[in-house]
Amino acid sequence: MGVLGVTSRRFNTFFHIKHRISRPISCDYVQNRGLSSNYSKDGTILPVLIVGAGPVGLVLSVLLTKLGIKCAVVERSMAFSKHPQAHFINNRSMEVFRKLDGLAEEIQRSQPPVELWRKFIYCTSLTGSVIGSVDHMQTQDFDQIVSPVSVAHFSQYKLNALLIKQLEAIDFTIHGHGGLNHRHLPEREILMGHNCISVEPTDNFINVTTSFVKEGKHIENQIPCRFLVGADGAGSTVRNLVGIEMRGEKDIQKLVSVHFLSTELGQYLMYEKPGMLFFIFNPGAIGVLVAHDLKQGEFILQMPFYPPQQKFEDFTSETCKRLIFKLVGRELADINVVDIKPWVMHAEVAEKYLACENRIILAGDAAHRFPPAGGFGMNTGIQDAHNLAWKLAAIIKGIAPMSILPTYEMERRPIALFNTDLSIQNFQAAMAVPAALGLDPATANSVHQVINKTVGSILPSSIQKTLLDGIFSLGHAQLSDFVLNENNPLGSSRLAKVRRIFEEGKSLQLQFPAEDLGFRYREGALVPEVDSEGAPIKPEPPTGRRREYIPSADLGSRLPHMNVRVLSKVNKEVIISTLDLISGDKVEFLLIIAPIDSSYRLANVVLKVANEHNILVKVCVMWPNGLVNGDARTKTSLAPWENYVDVVEVRQPSNSSSWWDICKMTHRGAILVRPDDHIAWRVKSAVVGDIRVEMKKVFSAILGL
Ligand SMILES: Cc1cc2nc3c(=O)[nH]c(=O)nc-3n(C[C@H](O)[C@H](O)[C@H](O)COP(=O)(O)OP(=O)(O)OC[C@H]3O[C@@H](n4cnc5c(N)ncnc54)[C@H](O)[C@@H]3O)c2cc1C
Repeated sequence: MGVLGVTSRRFNTFFHIKHRISRPISCDYVQNRGLSSNYSKDGTILPVLIVGAGPVGLVLSVLLTKLGIKCAVVERSMAFSKHPQAHFINNRSMEVFRKLDGLAEEIQRSQPPVELWRKFIYCTSLTGSVIGSVDHMQTQDFDQIVSPVSVAHFSQYKLNALLIKQLEAIDFTIHGHGGLNHRHLPEREILMGHNCISVEPTDNFINVTTSFVKEGKHIENQIPCRFLVGADGAGSTVRNLVGIEMRGEKDIQKLVSVHFLSTELGQYLMYEKPGMLFFIFNPGAIGVLVAHDLKQGEFILQMPFYPPQQKFEDFTSETCKRLIFKLVGRELADINVVDIKPWVMHAEVAEKYLACENRIILAGDAAHRFPPAGGFGMNTGIQDAHNLAWKLAAIIKGIAPMSILPTYEMERRPIALFNTDLSIQNFQAAMAVPAALGLDPATANSVHQVINKTVGSILPSSIQKTLLDGIFSLGHAQLSDFVLNENNPLGSSRLAKVRRIFEEGKSLQLQFPAEDLGFRYREGALVPEVDSEGAPIKPEPPTGRRREYIPSADLGSRLPHMNVRVLSKVNKEVIISTLDLISGDKVEFLLIIAPIDSSYRLANVVLKVANEHNILVKVCVMWPNGLVNGDARTKTSLAPWENYVDVVEVRQPSNSSSWWDICKMTHRGAILVRPDDHIAWRVKSAVVGDIRVEMKKVFSAILGL
């Protein structure tokens, strides 16, 4: 009974608001108590409510709406954050954005030119000497051989603004707190200023209570929904309310993030040393500067800080300006410190992503929080949304049962665990340079811990601070011109060590195509491959930091990209990516075959079985390079079905691999691709046994029918 009390009104609004206490509920004990909601009496329930209008919540709402699913978003802030935060958008996220009505193109148009952000620069001050620099872009990154779109450097708040624009274009309305009618069920709306404070699952729906302030009064609002997605960030209320624990390493580093503007600095760096990240080591200050936009002079400075000896309140605007001037090497006349935020670096993944019979779901930072090294935070969250959207749509449209939802956790959680490890490795790689310069951050953290554990309770905090400052300034002295120069034997050996780190590619990398494009689901909404004896083939888990992405048609991989020309009477010149063959507007599977009799037979059966189960499938007939008049054959072979497209390979250069070579298959094979571009099933040669029986098994396994 105690559990029920927590879920209901015993903890009233004021208790929640004043103390912000999140009490976990247990879904096992929750009953339908015929509670409150006015909406549910007439059976009206919102299919999906998303908590959090960060990039993940916004992407999910665009994807769901495009798939025809009604949803709404509640956001506790009154305005969208302008703190730039994440800025690197990887290939895979850009591929997702390509299908969102010109979003990828708009990002590419709006981002700073690549020449201004392709490098990481290591220096003693922004106007001082450069210790080294690393260029992170290679010619092939612009060739669009492995992906139809390049990576981007674009601030998170600007991305959010473009996502809002997308939502408005599909009839979303953004409401301030005053704009809500109490009896009205939100749909295609973002309710700003609405803080999710409790969730109450009943048999039929989840009753979500939000609180907002109107004319000085706290008002509660209830929204009944079928699915609740917690995309509410690292401190997720939804996660806390359902009692899901985070597992991993907590509190790796406390940081202060200073958002500032200076066109003077932007112009200087643009002409003197353009780059994206600046690692600055000087005796007066140490920090990482993220140049979000050199033209606009927009920066974030990240600095470690050590509470309780150092307090966040100590980082006033004036202190931050002084630190920035030390890092720049001179004063800036036009500096404008916009915002100062503390944040804590963790490396943690939620123990589970689903709760309350899979009706409450976590995505993005609510499910995982990584060190920012490698830019996996926001990108992994965007892939979560992409994986989840079609599965929710399939359930709501009656194509798949609820049992498909556990595949979301099965697929995405291992990726988050892998990316956590990778982010830690990248973070360690980022520390290699300061360590070589005699400044091991691990030592700083240990010194800090020792002070906390030993003298922390004995010495007054002012003396602890002096002690810590003294030890740190001894460390910073390693960076003085006196030590760090080629004529000083210690300095010269340290500089040689740093050069080796750069030459061997062991410093922090920007791009991880092997992981960004090559991540692969090992179990989930797919049909496991079996060996010749019929035993399931266990794919090798990925290891280490690898740069190259090798296209793969292995089960669970993202479909390889290849340019193809559409064979259609209307327009024979349209060149698209294989990824464009998968619809962003429908829960539709794609079957890729070669134009041979056995594959046409397979396609006929697939279309028939799919039709019987209300599943949409499109067939893509892949014609080899040079053959252009085959579409009549497809029409005859697949009649009466019409959901097919004939395409011909466009090889770049002309002697490059054929489609089936890229896939490491023969043209006798076939590939079935899910609505999120991942390969759900494939056959390397003809299907063995009764094709109809086999294909029924295939769809059952994928959709959990
Ligand atoms: C200072 C800082 C710098 C960072 N730098 C980088 C970087 O350089 N690279 C990188 O990849 N990542 C970085 N990150 C992480 C990156 O910003 C996150 O991975 C990304 O924001 C995750 O997006 P999200 O939508 O999951 O969560 P968020 O962006 O955190 O959005 C969650 C939203 O939910 C709202 N919310 C929270 N609780 C409630 C509630 N109870 N009710 C209603 N709404 C609620 C919040 O107001 C917020 O708008 C940084 C993070 C911080 C804090």
